[in-house]
Amino acid sequence: MNCLFCKIIAGEIPSTKVYEDDLILAFRDINPQAPTHILVIPKSHIPSVDGITAENSAVVAHIFETIPTIAAAEKLENGYRVVSNCGADAGQTVHHLHFHILGGKALSLEMA
Ligand code: AMP
Ligand code: ZN
Repeated sequence: MNCLFCKIIAGEIPSTKVYEDDLILAFRDINPQAPTHILVIPKSHIPSVDGITAENSAVVAHIFETIPTIAAAEKLENGYRVVSNCGADAGQTVHHLHFHILGGKALSLEMA
């Protein structure tokens, strides 16, 4: 499949990994929007939030169960934001489900 993040999972494209287990991978965003900017992805290909179903949502729960561990390892004790862009209006550029973890500074409250 011609998917950038599937290629990162396969090791065909390098990434700076911060967490990995059987189900998910977390790595640093190549174009960080905050001092800490990490992407967390399922190893299974789900195109976006719109592709989450009862059949595949366990991996999404696992991502959210793991985010606090990643945030603690990154010393984001002052807080952080979790964002997922879904579709064109949100500006989704990579069509493999991913959650941005943003932190390391006081973030703008602007949402749109
Ligand atoms: P989105 O715009 O929500 O689809 O987010 C895609 C994110 O992937 C952007 O923040 C990009 O900077 C990031 N990105 C694109 N290519 C890479 C890459 N090779 N390694 C790490 N992050 C990437
Ligand atoms: Zn993919």
